[in-house]
Amino acid sequence: MADKLAWIDTELKTLKDTGFYNNIRTLSSPQGARLVVDGKSVLNFCSNNYLGLANHPRIVQAAADAVRQYGVGPGAVRSIAGTMTLHLELEKRMAAFKRVEAAITFQSGFSANGATIPALVGKEDVIFSDELNHASIIDGSRLSGAKILRYAHCNPQDLERVVQETAGTYRRGLVITDGVFSMDGDYAPLDKLVEVADRYGLMTMVDDAHGEGVLGEGGRGIVDHFHLHGKVDVEVGTFSKAFGVVGGVVAGNAKIIEWLRQRGRPFLFSSAVTVPDTAACLAAVDLLEESTDLVDRLWANARLFQAEMKKLGFDTGVTQTPITPVMLGDVQLAREFSRRLFDEGLFAMALGFPTVPMGKARIRVMISAAHSQQDLEEALDIFERVGKSLGVK
Ligand SMILES: *Cc1c(COP(=O)(O)O)cnc(C)c1O
Repeated sequence: MADKLAWIDTELKTLKDTGFYNNIRTLSSPQGARLVVDGKSVLNFCSNNYLGLANHPRIVQAAADAVRQYGVGPGAVRSIAGTMTLHLELEKRMAAFKRVEAAITFQSGFSANGATIPALVGKEDVIFSDELNHASIIDGSRLSGAKILRYAHCNPQDLERVVQETAGTYRRGLVITDGVFSMDGDYAPLDKLVEVADRYGLMTMVDDAHGEGVLGEGGRGIVDHFHLHGKVDVEVGTFSKAFGVVGGVVAGNAKIIEWLRQRGRPFLFSSAVTVPDTAACLAAVDLLEESTDLVDRLWANARLFQAEMKKLGFDTGVTQTPITPVMLGDVQLAREFSRRLFDEGLFAMALGFPTVPMGKARIRVMISAAHSQQDLEEALDIFERVGKSLGVK
């Protein structure tokens, strides 16, 4: 009998032949400025560990202490018997941190989008979505059954055009945008988008996964950056990036948060994050509320690195955040660049189509507060050497 799974061999072969097969590297060290990757010690410019919290001693301690007190697993979904005092405390602390009415936590940023979007809109409704929104927004939007209309990237005028063209054809409308766009490091003109939404009575949602712990006062995120507290209906975030742990959060209007406790499907049908995760997130909030030092260091590192890269003649695109794309254009060049960086002891990913548009391949350099001045200088030297060896300026 024919192998009914032979199609997978064919598909995998195609991926390999066309260069789209994902070769996943293995880390055998904790996250930090340096990593051991495939057995080799390298400078780490790949992680979303913006503040160096993933292996911060206070966070590690908080997780260990909580495990001794409460064990590991939550035992059930939140709505049955899985809500612990720790989960509620984290939600209270996040609402206060973000200066909004209420917050609810999820297993991940991905599931937070899958919970929130279908709870807000359905088949009779419309989603106005930035054309470069994250995959989890796209999946959450599809799951909702609402009609998805895309507007030009970070373009409030185009949003308004699409809104006007479809006026009167739907029940409810929801505008959704990423906060920080992770491929280019630019961020949404949230104030202008909210103005348009307000003019037409549309709900607003921002997914600030890369802005959490990065933008706003002491890392309070994009809503805080634009002083839009109470004006953006919900803000989705993640604990997996700057917070250095794992988990998702939705913060904003108290009515929406209450509704998500009743209707957010990942909340109702998937168990809560574990005790150590939750305690670690709480310790991260403590650290962020105590001092802006880590956030300040992240931005100082980013400014220094980006200014020096420009002096070396590299094109760092349109970034407004610590995400630093090094634009190379050709995908083969970007891959070779990344390989040579790795040989020289620096780990940074090459990104090509379909992750970024055709002809816009790049190396994405992720700056962290964990980097020392010396790490940054070493990285700049390596970029200069590899750039010269490949004739990139
Ligand atoms: C990373 C990311 C997510 C997913 O967050 P996880 O907590 O890792 O699931 C969602 N949205 C955006 C915009 C992201 O960048």
